[in-house]
Amino acid sequence: MPELPEVETIRRQLSPKLLGRTITAAWAFDSPKFDEASLAVGTTITSLRRRGKYLLVELSSPETAASELVIHLGMTGRLTVTPPTTGDEPGTTAVEAADRHLRARWSFEDGSTLRFHDVRRFGRVAVVRSGHYEQLPTLASLGPEPDDEAFDAEHLRSAVNGGRRHVKTVLLSQRTVAGVGNIYADEALWRSGVDPRARRLTRVAALRLRDAVREVIAQGIASGGTTLRDYRDADGNRGTNQDQLDCYGRQGEPCHRCGTTIVHAVVDARSTSWCPHCQRR
Ligand SMILES: [Zn+2]
Repeated sequence: MPELPEVETIRRQLSPKLLGRTITAAWAFDSPKFDEASLAVGTTITSLRRRGKYLLVELSSPETAASELVIHLGMTGRLTVTPPTTGDEPGTTAVEAADRHLRARWSFEDGSTLRFHDVRRFGRVAVVRSGHYEQLPTLASLGPEPDDEAFDAEHLRSAVNGGRRHVKTVLLSQRTVAGVGNIYADEALWRSGVDPRARRLTRVAALRLRDAVREVIAQGIASGGTTLRDYRDADGNRGTNQDQLDCYGRQGEPCHRCGTTIVHAVVDARSTSWCPHCQRR
C-alpha cells in the first residue's frame, strides 16, 4: 500500500505537469468512491499538497469557493498523466490494458489527461470545499506529519502510554502521526529497538522511535518509495527503498544489527516483523 513516501514521490512528479491546468471534462467508474471526480470540472489546479497518505489537489474556479480534489490511492492506486498526443500514436496497448482498471480520468484544456487506475478499488476520490474533510474522517483526524514539530517524543509517548494499544497500532492509527503504514512502521520500530508489541515507552525509547520514524520516511522519499508488488510512481517506475529494508518482510533472515533471525507474527491484524533480540518491550 502506498504510504507517505510513495504519495509524496507521486505528488512531486505530478506537480509540474498539473499546476495551472484547467479541467475540462471528467469520467468516473460507477461507484460512490470515485464519482465525485466530475465535480472538479471547470476548475483550475493551483497546487498539489499532501497530508499523510492523501493527495490534495487544490482547485480554483471563478464561480465557486476554492475546493480540493482529494485522492487516496488505497492498496493499488496509480496516477499517471498522459500527454495530448498519446492516444493517436501506435503502441498504446499498455495504456488500453491498464484502462480496464481505470477509476477516474480528468481531461485538461491542452488535451492531456490525469488517470487514476486502481485494481483493487480501495482508493477514493472526493471533491470538498477547501479544508472541509467531514466526509473523510481519517483525513479529518490526521495527526501531525512526521517532520512537524508537533510530532515530538512526548506526544508519541503519551499516545502510547495513555492507551492500551500496542505501539505499532498507535503508529498505524494515523492520529498520532500521519502517513505511516505497515512497511515504515516495522522499519522505524526496528531502527529504534522498540518491540512492536510494547504498550509503554520510556522517554528515551519515545525519542528514538520519533527520530526513527522521521529517518525511515525521509529515506523512503529519497529512494522514490518502496515497491514490493504494485506500487509505481507517476512515471510508471518502481521505487528503490525495498533494497534498503532492514526488517519489513525479512522474517527468517538474519537481523542486520545482531544476526538473530527476524521473526514474524500478526499484531492487531497486521503482518509484523521484528528482531526478538534487539527490539525490546
Ligand atoms: Zn537484532
